[in-house]
Amino acid sequence: MQLRWPLWINGQWVNPDHFFSVINPATEEPAFEVAEAGLAEVEQAVSAALTAFRDGRWAKLPPAERQARLNRFADLLEAQQEDLVTAEVRQSGKPRKLVHYSDFLFSVDNVRYFAGISRHLEGRASAEYNGIHNSSIRREPVGVVAGIAPWNYPLMMAVWKLAPALAAGNSVILKPASLTPVTALMLGPLAQEAGIPDGVFNVLSGPGRLIGQRLVAHPDVAMISLTGDTGTGRQIMNQAAGRVKRLHLELGGKAPAVVFADADFEAAVQGITVGALVNSGQDCTAATRAYVQRPLYTPFVEALAEKFQTVRLGDPEAWTTDLGPLISQAQWDKVHQYVTDTRRRGGTIVLGGQKPADMGPGYFYAPTLVTGVEQDWPVVQEEIFGPVLVVMPFDSDDEAVRLANQVDYGLASSVWTRDVYRAQRLSRELEFGEVWINDHLPLTSEMPHGGLKQSGFGHDLSYYALEEYTVVKHVMSDIEGATVKPWHFTVLGDVPE
Ligand code: NAD
Repeated sequence: MQLRWPLWINGQWVNPDHFFSVINPATEEPAFEVAEAGLAEVEQAVSAALTAFRDGRWAKLPPAERQARLNRFADLLEAQQEDLVTAEVRQSGKPRKLVHYSDFLFSVDNVRYFAGISRHLEGRASAEYNGIHNSSIRREPVGVVAGIAPWNYPLMMAVWKLAPALAAGNSVILKPASLTPVTALMLGPLAQEAGIPDGVFNVLSGPGRLIGQRLVAHPDVAMISLTGDTGTGRQIMNQAAGRVKRLHLELGGKAPAVVFADADFEAAVQGITVGALVNSGQDCTAATRAYVQRPLYTPFVEALAEKFQTVRLGDPEAWTTDLGPLISQAQWDKVHQYVTDTRRRGGTIVLGGQKPADMGPGYFYAPTLVTGVEQDWPVVQEEIFGPVLVVMPFDSDDEAVRLANQVDYGLASSVWTRDVYRAQRLSRELEFGEVWINDHLPLTSEMPHGGLKQSGFGHDLSYYALEEYTVVKHVMSDIEGATVKPWHFTVLGDVPE
């Protein structure tokens, strides 16, 4: 496994002056040395990406050719599975089975999906809508796209940024999070080997506040696609306003799981445990607030506590590990701060709320179950990004909807009931971009993932994502060849008799 990773610009490794250490969250030891791009490398990457875009070496290829090369890229990812998964586990602390069976396989499927739909761009039919001009729609790539990614799903988020953007014919500069840049950098040479021309795909690791900001402000970057914190999204919106830049923002979440008394009890306990603890809760769609209808409330909390105790925390490299550490000490402190604040306010920490006593090094946090909280407390309102689930009772359907919606976020939600009418009704009432019925978390390449409210706008996955990375042009052609058109008199000449 290569331990030192330069930048990937214009089809070459580039060594800047500075490198930084990437820490393995499970051991607290440095795992990789990674290049830190500065402003000079941003210029280099933008210039390479713009040149590649303008000369059409990728954008003007027939879609079938782009498809073939993206499929080859997917083949090469598969061939590198072992290395990619190992690097992902070491830089993120994610359990190997999660990376291997979920993130990795889904990422490959995402690439193949976008390879395929790049051949099928949609628009309204060409026609003479006004009788004398033919109107047609062109859907074209945007230009140079900066994809700015978070640390919680480093490989998958890299793929969500690059696959639809490349499928649509754009040039991409990928900026992974500084805590987890390695698997994104590993993609550079694989893209080259797949036949994606030099300059079309570049990877810059380095600080968001320097190189991320510069990418956002750069006049030659046409679009910013961020997956990250809502606060970062706000900053980027402000910075992008100066150039009225195209944005796609996938931001934070605070997903409710609403459990009705008629739900399948065991399925809800199982599903909400999985939904809350996936990736140690460092998931924007994680179930963080369970609202349970009063008759079920006490047995449900007891059953969750029992289920939480079956979760195996430990070495992420082991196939038997369910839960790895949090990403960093700073994240551990942030999570613990929410728990401490909840305790101080009089909430009950039913389980967890600390590092398990028998753990060695690593930023491990025990699965944590919280009750006795108020709707307006930070633990209920704010994104924690840790293995912390709050459980609250409700009585009526209306109350459940009101409590579920009463947050600034609008990314994901779930409803647990056997009543099909209620399930449909709630899928309309819940103000979230995703509503699961009797499950929580699963996604599919064919269907969109995106937020409402302060969870952002735009979509990942599906045809909607391909649309994000295209611009629409209306082309209107005169079909009659008359010198004076019937409407010209409105500007020049007399009103006809
Ligand atoms: P973050 O916002 O701190 O960082 C995200 C990326 O933005 C990083 O690459 C960072 O370097 C860069 N960045 C930071 N400040 C910047 C600036 N001013 N200009 C340009 N770039 C800047 O987020 P994170 O802590 O890496 O990730 C966790 C967050 O991501 C959570 O809020 C989570 O909910 C969100 N997330 C959302 C989704 C989704 O699909 N909605 C998916 C995964 C993660």
